[in-house]
Amino acid sequence: MKKIKVGVVGYGTIGKRVADAVMLQEDMELVGVTAHSYNYRILAAQEKKIALYATDDGEHLKEHGITIAGSIRDLLKKVDIIVDTTPKKIGKENKEKYYLPGKVKAIFQGGEKADVAEISFTAQVNYPKAVNSDYIRVVSCNTTGLARTLYEVHKKFGIAEVNATMIRRGADPWDIRHGPINAIVPVLELPSHHGPDVQTVLPDVRIFTTALSVSTTLMHVHTLIVDCVKTPSVHDTIEVFRKATRIRVLDNASKVRSTAEIMELARDLERSRGDMPEIVVWKEAIGVNGNKLLYMQAVHQESDVICENIDAIRAAMGFPDAKKSIEMTNKALEIDKWAGDSEWVCE
Ligand code: NAD
Repeated sequence: MKKIKVGVVGYGTIGKRVADAVMLQEDMELVGVTAHSYNYRILAAQEKKIALYATDDGEHLKEHGITIAGSIRDLLKKVDIIVDTTPKKIGKENKEKYYLPGKVKAIFQGGEKADVAEISFTAQVNYPKAVNSDYIRVVSCNTTGLARTLYEVHKKFGIAEVNATMIRRGADPWDIRHGPINAIVPVLELPSHHGPDVQTVLPDVRIFTTALSVSTTLMHVHTLIVDCVKTPSVHDTIEVFRKATRIRVLDNASKVRSTAEIMELARDLERSRGDMPEIVVWKEAIGVNGNKLLYMQAVHQESDVICENIDAIRAAMGFPDAKKSIEMTNKALEIDKWAGDSEWVCE
């Protein structure tokens, strides 16, 4: 099998995970990643024998004993596709500077505006529409979480309208610069950007979102009120989520009552980096009031989009089978491994 040659530009929270995930795929080869500045992540990449390509002349990296395989332009010449995981707005700059002139396909992240790519992507929702695209944007961690569960609810009950609140982690665990440390900070913009972003993936779902940041680094939590077309039931909702891919239903009996315990479960399962890529829905927090379905879900912001990037690579490279791609990715990343009864079908 000819492997897809992948380069990763940006080696931070998302980039280092994408690089690891690419190395685990049978049909992909990680050619290398970019080193933008010297830091512990680059040290770790070197120890893992990942080829490093400098975004400048690389002299400051060499001074610290980092071996440079070439420049970012050298990397572009060796790959079929780039996954750009740089901070927001830089992906778009890189597209203009490198990917368009170099005629290289690229996957972008949710920090970029939707117009950076031909399609905004969540694999289980719209993989078929992304096949053979040159540029795909994997939506943000929050949008991915909303899109995954709302897609399943929409298929089962039909959605008339969604109102949802995002309780967002203040910073990623390694990040000592951002907060809040001791405050709850509302987003003073209604709707928050998440609702319109969900519509880039699920255009026919009416959704209004609000958001606030809190003093935690572990996960985001969403509370959703979904006005359904058909009257929903708690039982059917649990079944729908259990059978869906990349959604995990946890219950009170297992003593997973918080984001802290979800992350501890991920560590106990010995998942890579202690990640929980599935969206976790608490069984006892699913309720019905007339035609309104209420539920709460937790999103591991560092990892839920990684499997999406892997599927986006296959879609961009023309692999036509969404279900097969998702199965391949899930198997390699051990996603849904414990779900057992996942019966997800792509429509
Ligand atoms: P990060 O800050 O952890 O990593 C970004 C990396 O890009 C760093 O290693 C930095 O050195 C490098 N970089 C900066 N400028 C560069 C340049 N010009 N060329 C090459 N590399 C450069 O950021 P992140 O959290 O991984 O976010 C990356 C993207 O993923 C953003 O669009 C973000 O919105 C999105 N995203 C982040 C999260 C999250 O929770 N962290 C979740 C989902 C999506």
